[in-house]
Amino acid sequence: MTDIALEMPWLQNAWQVVQKRFDEGRLPHALLLTGECGVGKRAWADAVAGLLLCASPGSRNTGEPFACGQCRQCQLYAASSHPDVRVYSPEKSRMIKIDQIRSLSAFAVSSPQVAARKIAIIDRADQLNINSANALLKTLEEPVSDFVLLLLQESGRPVLPTIRSRCQALSIPVPSADQAGQWLASKVAELEGEKQPSAELMAKSLMLAGNAPRLALEYAMGEFPALRDEAFEKFRQFMKGQVAVAEAAKAFKALGLEDMLWLFEGWAADLARLCAGGQANDPEAAEMLGFLAGVNPAWRAHELLEGVREARAAGVYNANPELEASRLLIAWRELMPTKRHAS
Ligand SMILES: [Zn+2]
Repeated sequence: MTDIALEMPWLQNAWQVVQKRFDEGRLPHALLLTGECGVGKRAWADAVAGLLLCASPGSRNTGEPFACGQCRQCQLYAASSHPDVRVYSPEKSRMIKIDQIRSLSAFAVSSPQVAARKIAIIDRADQLNINSANALLKTLEEPVSDFVLLLLQESGRPVLPTIRSRCQALSIPVPSADQAGQWLASKVAELEGEKQPSAELMAKSLMLAGNAPRLALEYAMGEFPALRDEAFEKFRQFMKGQVAVAEAAKAFKALGLEDMLWLFEGWAADLARLCAGGQANDPEAAEMLGFLAGVNPAWRAHELLEGVREARAAGVYNANPELEASRLLIAWRELMPTKRHAS
């Protein structure tokens, strides 16, 4: 079995904590892992689940336990057909619903079918609605000895303090550009020749993903970079008054609500950085944002960030992406200096 910390060195700390506590027989019944989107939270959870299921978690020269990769448990898990692992992730509404948590609670108190314990992964704990979060609290308050809960949280998205306080909290950092680039190159090398993205597209995907490697891989293999370029071009034209808001909003709609909000959020955060004398993360937008930072007070950037948060909250109730894009674009347009004509 591959060592997750060799494949993704930035996971090392969060992984070693688990190995050590597992080895000492003091593994907490709930772990909460925080990290940016696409940084490898799920890969960590999958590795932890593999270790906890293995029937003979031996140790290598380091003396730390690893899943053996040979036993029946490991084989079942590798085939994605282990009955003692369950993953709970948001449904269509983008939230984890109470029915899912009820099913988790029943799973927690049931007997394991083939392994020594059961593992549930909540991917993601920041998308529990209030009812499901309250239902989950009951399970957290009454730990079961043969049940381990792994909660994954995206950075910057809140998890109820009452849930957080009942978990051991861990976090994973964003890897360096070198680490992220190496990981991406190794994944791409596994693909057939004609499916391999160009070096240019890989570099761009890493930039767009802020060096979050799994997100960069998703970008390099998908449509996002091209759709983002189109949306960014329309955004620039709209700011200069060259296209109507409806036309610009259409280009954003093509991205879908989540990706669209993510872009607006990134630009607003870059604007805030530039207003504070820092640098933009998105080099392609730096020139336009630098101009806006020169002619606007910093609170404007925070207002734009607030607008993204409102749109994201509205997204839970099936907001119309085109409408939300128009609203955000108009808010941005207000940052352009108006030409006053003497009458
Ligand atoms: Zn094993």
